[in-house]
Amino acid sequence: MRKLILIKYAAEIFLKGLNRGKFEKKLKNNIKNVISDLEWTSVSDQGRWFIYSEDLDEIINRLVNVSGIAELCIVTEVEASMDEIEKQAVIEMKESKAVTFKVQTNRANKSFPKNSLEVNKELGGRILNDIEGLKVKVTNPEIIINVEIREKAYVYSKKIKAVGGLPYGMNGNTMLMLSGGIDSPVAGYLMARRGVEVSCVYYHSHPYTSERAKEKVKDLAKILKKYTGEIKLYVVPFTEIQMQIIEKCREDELTIIMRRFMMRIACTLAEKYNIQSVTTGESVGQVASQTMESLVVSDDVSDRPVFRPLIADDKVEIMDVARKIGTYETSILPYEDCCTIFVPKHPKTKPILKHIIESEKVLDVNKLVEEAVNGMEIFEM
Ligand code: ATP
Ligand code: MG
Repeated sequence: MRKLILIKYAAEIFLKGLNRGKFEKKLKNNIKNVISDLEWTSVSDQGRWFIYSEDLDEIINRLVNVSGIAELCIVTEVEASMDEIEKQAVIEMKESKAVTFKVQTNRANKSFPKNSLEVNKELGGRILNDIEGLKVKVTNPEIIINVEIREKAYVYSKKIKAVGGLPYGMNGNTMLMLSGGIDSPVAGYLMARRGVEVSCVYYHSHPYTSERAKEKVKDLAKILKKYTGEIKLYVVPFTEIQMQIIEKCREDELTIIMRRFMMRIACTLAEKYNIQSVTTGESVGQVASQTMESLVVSDDVSDRPVFRPLIADDKVEIMDVARKIGTYETSILPYEDCCTIFVPKHPKTKPILKHIIESEKVLDVNKLVEEAVNGMEIFEM
């Protein structure tokens, strides 16, 4: 008798029809990668995939963050016989101290002499006999005794919720604009959970933004790594661009022109590294640069889709996710970012595209972008 983890895939993977095999293979590879430094073996039994290890806790810690996994069940493997199943079910019942229960069986092994309903009934009866004072309750019991009958039988009552989503790397890729704030790491996490491979770009305005601000963004990328595996961070020097904008453009247009530069650079890097799209942490109306008009004017310089997974979320909801994924505490560290330093007193909230294009004519846009990209540093987190 030993304990294993039963990995339950997110239901959407089963909807993939002919592609299901590919999704499953990718998911298994991702799983193997995150636990590659631990000792473990896998067990396949009639369509179910289990992991055995001496350190199940650590395996669970890591697998709850792997997208494409819906649940992890801690199962006990026993011989496929009613007596053995009963013994383990009684142990689980006693451990739980629950009074109401039901049995839920899934039988793939058709040579097992009873079908699922028969097992539910008989095992339920045996448990009632074995332990006094219990009650079967079909809706909302305190505990469900699950039984999977394959070559062996697997009994469990404990399930751990995992992130869900789709296997990382199955849905193309994106360049995430990662600032040190609360929103952009959440946007990156959401894309990763949907299976989109994430690379990050951070615009650094040295010396106006400190080395510590850069370290903070690296730390955020490291936290995101829990959900992505290896992740690249491009740190692009942004001071010269900001200086030129401040020197040559109208104060109320600084922010929108700066946002357009960020977008251009993200697209330039995306082109260079074969990345299909751009993602930001913007949410409509959150600040002056995130009005619908501003979003339209910054999208104008993008040559690929720009995704904003937080567009319709309230800040409180975003903060909740940030706490859940472990980026919040780092995000609120008080280091300045390039946008907070160069904020105009009265930024335009309804910029007009043709006016902004006109205003930008005083800048050598291509050269500024090229120089910034040439000066970037690349970190593999
Ligand atoms: P966040 O909490 O993600 O920093 P924010 O509420 O501070 O967002 P802004 O500063 O207007 O909002 O930035 C909007 C989006 O632009 C960010 O979510 C991020 O995607 C991108 N962004 C802003 N500053 C930077 C930066 N220095 N480097 C890279 N991307 C940035
Ligand atoms: Mg910010």
